Amino acid sequence: MSGAPAVVRAACPLDCPDACSLDVTVEAGRVTKIEGSRDRNELTAGFICSKVRTLPRHLRAPERLLHPLVRAGRKGEGAFERISWDDALDRIAARLIEIRDRFGGEAILPYAYGGSNGLLSDGTTDALLFRRLGASRLARTVCAAPTGRAATGLYGKMEGVALPDYVHAKLIVVWGCNPSATGIHLVPIVRAARDAGARLVVVDPRRIPLAAQADLHLAPRPGSDAPLALAAIRELYARGAADLDFLARHATGVEALRQRAEPWTLARAAAEADVPVADLERFVDLYAESSPAVIRCGWGVERNRNGGSAVAAILSLPAVAGKFGVRGGGYTMSNSGAWRFAAEPLWGPEPTTRTINMNRLGEALERAEPPVRALFVYNSNALATTPNQTSVRRGLEREDLFTVVFDQVATDTARYADVVLPATHFLEHRELSRGYGAFVLHVSEPAAAPPGEARPNYEVFAELAMRCGVARACEIPAEREAVARVLDATGRGEALRAELAERGYGLPAAGARPVQFVDVFPHTADRKIHLVPPELDREAPGGLHAYRADPATGRFPLALVSPATSRTVSSTFGHLRRGPVPLEMHPDDAAARGLADGERVRIWNELGEVICDLKLSSAMRPGVVELPKGLWSHNTVNGATANALAPDSLTDLGGGACFNDARVEVERAAALAPDAASLAHG
Ligand code: SF4
Repeated sequence: MSGAPAVVRAACPLDCPDACSLDVTVEAGRVTKIEGSRDRNELTAGFICSKVRTLPRHLRAPERLLHPLVRAGRKGEGAFERISWDDALDRIAARLIEIRDRFGGEAILPYAYGGSNGLLSDGTTDALLFRRLGASRLARTVCAAPTGRAATGLYGKMEGVALPDYVHAKLIVVWGCNPSATGIHLVPIVRAARDAGARLVVVDPRRIPLAAQADLHLAPRPGSDAPLALAAIRELYARGAADLDFLARHATGVEALRQRAEPWTLARAAAEADVPVADLERFVDLYAESSPAVIRCGWGVERNRNGGSAVAAILSLPAVAGKFGVRGGGYTMSNSGAWRFAAEPLWGPEPTTRTINMNRLGEALERAEPPVRALFVYNSNALATTPNQTSVRRGLEREDLFTVVFDQVATDTARYADVVLPATHFLEHRELSRGYGAFVLHVSEPAAAPPGEARPNYEVFAELAMRCGVARACEIPAEREAVARVLDATGRGEALRAELAERGYGLPAAGARPVQFVDVFPHTADRKIHLVPPELDREAPGGLHAYRADPATGRFPLALVSPATSRTVSSTFGHLRRGPVPLEMHPDDAAARGLADGERVRIWNELGEVICDLKLSSAMRPGVVELPKGLWSHNTVNGATANALAPDSLTDLGGGACFNDARVEVERAAALAPDAASLAHG
């Protein structure tokens, strides 16, 4: 790579709906600037979020792992010695084979989520390795599992309203997501729609930035979205505003849904959600009278015991109110289904080994039978992201557990590893990414040289599969061929290759701006909306829309939410967010506890405690406190984060995480020993 600056085309594969196209400036093999591109993704429109704009910092951050390491102290201490790649891979292969032969393949647990990579770094050679070892399977449920179940059950994951088409809407409902923090490109689109006369409703327990410009902000107590949506459905029927003709032609389960909505009067739902009944009524007014009306349903809705039913109820609203069939009308959830990847696994048949829910990692490490004896963590900082953090930490401390962490940086989880492997970043390897908001697919070539000895996932898992003796070199395709395989799995590989060559991005079969019930229809077997899908009805405890009450108790009355922020959408980049992060609380809640702004507080429940500083904020509604998602141990005084207070109970659908079911109390923290903070951080 020469020293003259060059601009390389790339794409962002981070866990964000927008899938931005990027212009990456590279000088002397180093990334010096990243900007949003003006082509290859109309949503990007030349700007990107600060997380990725400041990515050059991350690529050469002191926390980057440069060489393979082996543990040289107690687990959690973070003491390591450098070893060679050969030595590291041989050690890992030897231990995995030994554990498989002595205890069976299920004693091995791979643990991964999206990380900051795309489709080539997840579910390719890693899947090959672990399937052939007969490892335990991981249910990847920490995010999007309930929404995925609901969207699949009702609509077969039908393509949603394209975000740029929101400018055509006369009403935009932003429900359970904060586009100012994640998926930021919706913000200027909403602004443009507002300028053109659209009205805006925000449903979120916090006064997120968009709420400030909304015509109506409903701030329900976490976990009570389902009653609000069901009450709106009931009211639409009561007013004669339900589109019976559309429902008769396009939906099943119509009467079942109506009956389940029946108990939820506006007054009862408003009381349960703790919102003014007049506001709920106003929401129904706006929704009934506006067309096109679009609902942007976010993932904040799912993070509680009723999350799946809540999403199902929200996604039922456009069907009941007859909001489809016009540009800018309908709903948007995840558009990942637009790619219609073949259900048939590309990397060998799915094994029938046991499945462990990733939200219950602590339980799996502490109590699973047969025990987990090898844990391989990649694309994930498990200790930072998993509920019941104290249990996860205890599990990671097990001296008899062989743990590998393969990551770009020294994460909290890596401190507990026996072997640590350095991974490349998405700008340092070939990558394939597709949007789940934007309808685009990109293939990116490496833009920069990796630091030190960092290597790509694809290559390392292929090498391990061979060293473990479960695959031969001739069975593992070169990366370019693997990319072609993934493209072919969409059923339109040839067309995508042509589009990529011609204009630098690919589109799904439905195109870039499908109109629901004009261009796209439910991908269910009968092409109808299943308002109460039998499979979801069987799965949800008590049936779909059976409401489970707030878990608050007299002892733990406050709901703790842990939403994404503009700096941490997940734990990725947590190493860059140094310094303490405060708990946010409404002034009335603080006054009731005699707490003042800036005080050091203890947040606690039966699962654990977090010690941090307090920030008073009228953006919080009373009864709800916030400590953001994605924090690392260095962000709090005692090294615990919100997940130390989150239960490992599961959502009604999809086995999702109930982060927002954490109920806590907050009090002034007792003085800590002078060195307590540094000990907590190792
Ligand atoms: S807005 Fe989303 S897709 Fe765009 S650069 Fe930021 S994280 Fe990536």
